[in-house]
Amino acid sequence: MRELLSSPPDGRRQAAADNALGLEESLFTLACSDARGVPLAGRAAELVALRVVGARDLSLARLYEGHLNGAQLVARHGTAEQRARSLADIGAGRVFGVWNTQEADDPLRISIRGDGITLDGAKTWASGAGTITRPVVTALRADGTTQLCLIPIERVATAVDRSGWRPHGMQRSDSFRIAFDGVELRADDLIGAPGAYDRQPWFWGGAWRFAAAQSGAVERLFVETAAYLRARGRDGDTFQRARLAEMRMGLHCAVHWLRAAAAAWSDFDTAETAAGAARVIDVVDMARTSVETIAVDTIARVLRSVGASGLIEPQPFGPLVRDLEMYLRQPAPDAAVVRIGIAAFAEAQALHKAMVASSTDCDG
Ligand SMILES: Cc1cc2nc3c(=O)[nH]c(=O)nc-3n(C[C@H](O)[C@H](O)[C@H](O)COP(=O)(O)OP(=O)(O)OC[C@H]3O[C@@H](n4cnc5c(N)ncnc54)[C@H](O)[C@@H]3O)c2cc1C
Repeated sequence: MRELLSSPPDGRRQAAADNALGLEESLFTLACSDARGVPLAGRAAELVALRVVGARDLSLARLYEGHLNGAQLVARHGTAEQRARSLADIGAGRVFGVWNTQEADDPLRISIRGDGITLDGAKTWASGAGTITRPVVTALRADGTTQLCLIPIERVATAVDRSGWRPHGMQRSDSFRIAFDGVELRADDLIGAPGAYDRQPWFWGGAWRFAAAQSGAVERLFVETAAYLRARGRDGDTFQRARLAEMRMGLHCAVHWLRAAAAAWSDFDTAETAAGAARVIDVVDMARTSVETIAVDTIARVLRSVGASGLIEPQPFGPLVRDLEMYLRQPAPDAAVVRIGIAAFAEAQALHKAMVASSTDCDG
């Protein structure tokens, strides 16, 4: 990831670089949000940004997703002072992230005794560890609840372990293990009340961001496959057309789902009701699950379309497929399907009642 942070890949980005991810300023500062963590540019813009960065580079998109998430968490749960500091950090080009994942036998723990606040334990899968400077971490309190902490990396000594990072894809996301043993924090490094991170619909509903980034990679595969086939004069072939047709329909389906998720979020942002929260979770569950299925199907079609020759570098397909396969593995996919299944029975029952009622009306 160091090269993602230090050397933007093209001149256009170089010229616009004003931040550590090397993203255009409008994309980077989309992390600025209101006091409820709603992006000032709106959910539709957030969706477009994640798709654009996902199409560009999925490792970069992983970091970008964490940047948006971390900054939104501080905006939603932080004090006015913490929010102002984080806006200044975004303006100064500092990159946020969210590190929640950990091993069961060495979770990140926080001990709060009077003014003394100490961390012990480690995070795993910490994207950007060793480089990003504003990670938000979840730490286990003695009572079993979690505490959000915003770590000012330059002030503390952590131990980044890169030794186990030999992934199938997403190499440059630098998702390392990082230990915080003995790290001392100040009271104003703690963000929000215990349990803030787990609040719904933000916790489960946040899955729409990684699904949006994944859909960008699906779009990139679609575009690259069409270009590859055209360059070889294979675009007139019936089988290739059929596969590209299926890829196209899948991509559009993914984007429709993500727009529905953005709309559910926007409705909830306007009025934070219990029904709106349930709708966000339901639509995001269906969107992330659909995008995963579409992405897996797309990968199979790409491989059949470009064949073995397409998997030789510098053709882009090998790295793109490996990154997407890796990034598709996100938390608790089965749990999301179970929730969709429970909602399916309720929906089917309501539809059945409506059918019976309408046939009774007709009989009358
Ligand atoms: C490239 C990349 C970067 C990442 N960066 C970050 C980051 O910056 N911060 C962060 O916090 N996390 C990060 N993660 C971790 C991510 O959020 C998930 O925690 C992780 O990807 C899940 O790993 P897994 O698929 O091995 O999970 P598992 O939970 O092991 O899931 C694998 C399968 O087992 C099922 N399963 C889960 N629990 C059980 C159970 N108890 N019994 C039976 N089946 C079960 C799941 O539904 C799934 O089908 C990153 C992941 C990737 C791939």
